[in-house]
Amino acid sequence: MRDITLANGDVVQVECLSCAITSGLVKPIGGVIYEDEYFHVHQDVAYPIPGLVILASKRHFYRMDELTAVEATRYITLIQRIRGAQSTCLGIDHVYYFYNEDTTHHFHLWMVPRYEWMGQFGSSVESLRPSLVHARNAMNSAANVTYVIDCIDKLRNALLD
Ligand SMILES: [Zn+2]
Repeated sequence: MRDITLANGDVVQVECLSCAITSGLVKPIGGVIYEDEYFHVHQDVAYPIPGLVILASKRHFYRMDELTAVEATRYITLIQRIRGAQSTCLGIDHVYYFYNEDTTHHFHLWMVPRYEWMGQFGSSVESLRPSLVHARNAMNSAANVTYVIDCIDKLRNALLD
């Protein structure tokens, strides 16, 4: 078990933060964007970038080749639906996708929209990490977080079946 400090300052003890979130033990700020029996979609507002989405499996595993055939099909379909919603609801032109297997959380995909302000940190993927740090440290005003949550609501509505 380890302590995890949430964006709102609360400290929780969990074995795996992804398990805690996908099981509903820890509620992400802004709420659940989408969930089904296999996956859980939310935003980590510690990185208040409008339209940033985290897609986590509900099962606890780490590797891409551990997805079952059914999960793999659902995964791609869900990514496409989220990507479409980012475009139609938020006008997002480009998205960076990444996930890493050497994580203390379990299997989860980051979908990070590209914005013009990220250009100060370089082009394409080189801007990704500095942009996330910048968002966490310099974009956490109440007004921006409110806007980010508004974007979460739009994505949630778009993903209703
Ligand atoms: Zn887990």
